[in-house]
Amino acid sequence: MALEEFRADAMRCTRCTYCRWIPFDLIKSDRFAKGCPSMEAGKFHAYSAGGRLVTALSLMDGRSTVTEKTKDSVFKCTLCGQCDVSCKMCRYDMEPLAAMRELRFDLVENGHTLPQLEPVLESLRTEFNMLGKPADERGDWAKTLKVKDLTKEKAEVVFHAGCRYSFDGDLGPVARLSVKILQEAGVDVGIFGEAEHCCGGRAYGMGYRGDLDNSARHNLRAWKAAGVKTVVTPCSDCFHTFKRLYTAEAGSDIEVIHMVQFVDRLVKEGKLKFTKEVPMTVTYHDPCHLGRQGEDYVPWSGTEKKIFGQAVAYDPPKPRYTGAFGVYEPPRDVLKAIPGLKLVEMERNREAAWCCGAGGGAREAYPEFSAATANERIEEAATTGADAIVSACPWCEQNFGDAVEAGAGALKVFDVMALVGMALGIEEEA
Ligand code: SF4
Ligand code: SF4
Repeated sequence: MALEEFRADAMRCTRCTYCRWIPFDLIKSDRFAKGCPSMEAGKFHAYSAGGRLVTALSLMDGRSTVTEKTKDSVFKCTLCGQCDVSCKMCRYDMEPLAAMRELRFDLVENGHTLPQLEPVLESLRTEFNMLGKPADERGDWAKTLKVKDLTKEKAEVVFHAGCRYSFDGDLGPVARLSVKILQEAGVDVGIFGEAEHCCGGRAYGMGYRGDLDNSARHNLRAWKAAGVKTVVTPCSDCFHTFKRLYTAEAGSDIEVIHMVQFVDRLVKEGKLKFTKEVPMTVTYHDPCHLGRQGEDYVPWSGTEKKIFGQAVAYDPPKPRYTGAFGVYEPPRDVLKAIPGLKLVEMERNREAAWCCGAGGGAREAYPEFSAATANERIEEAATTGADAIVSACPWCEQNFGDAVEAGAGALKVFDVMALVGMALGIEEEA
């Protein structure tokens, strides 16, 4: 794709600003009506999806050039996709999220990069992870586990831990618990350990699409060599990358499933039985890449048609990702099946969830913006009266954990798998 392919959307954007808010019929209060973290930080229209379409048009037409301010407005965005959901409520056939990604690619490919992201990309290219850690430490999280090594053995299912669960000592127990939960249900599972590479999705979000291709080539080749039929991951970023981006960019027919979906399936099939009470009230945070961006990839090929020489239509009509078919119920069903646990909802949930602030390179490039976005979510979670905020993504958990530690609230932060482990009586030390 090229930025020019989004010209029609840039022209058709009515500057209505609907993309700054959650869909109007889902608004429950003035306090939690906003949907766009970027607008909260930037305060000007340039920091909204509509504003970036104006920027794209202006750059395409040569009416402006890229300045430091342009870069700030393009990159200070978590690519959470809330704007995309809201825009499609009123302008069904526009793709603001895809256009904003393309605008980043365009800037990066023309040398307009952010110096803050360079160490992260360097780490990906030399150590195959986004955290600046040595590649040969990637499998350390699993040293105490008895699990198949897929560099030597074969298994139906590969467990892909992802960078954060592999290297973050505080979060490592979630990865080990996840493997033990799968083994408890009799799943034929293995890991690649230090031979696992970053999915590449976060680099793609930062504007580096070539790095996604490198990661996809390595991981797909490894999965095929090990005879893997299903890849399961507890990381929502990896899930989105494998399910949507690998299929779209690299072509893949391997089943991709998130841990919460797998556990939901195993519970409903009677292969996992919760035996312990978990007396806790929790609220669930929908990770952007599992929720509204967790829809299946739908291939499309066709032609663009001009109507009256101006408006654009596609023949056949293009598939639209509205967020309506994301992964919302499996994590909730798992939580509701845990004895003693009560689930309460935040005002902004499912397609309308407020972002954790960690996506799109925001955590790495703009830590204050990222932290403020997480604080906002912790404040919202606290209004539910819950004891804990629960999610299904290590990046959300880390951002929320940091926010709580910095004083945003007194909530505990859990991954769904931590609570599943408690309900099964499976323990894992940090
Ligand atoms: S991107 Fe969509 S919602 Fe936002 S201003 Fe343009 S038309 Fe309106
Ligand atoms: S992706 Fe999220 S942060 Fe970026 S413009 Fe859209 S709603 Fe705002």
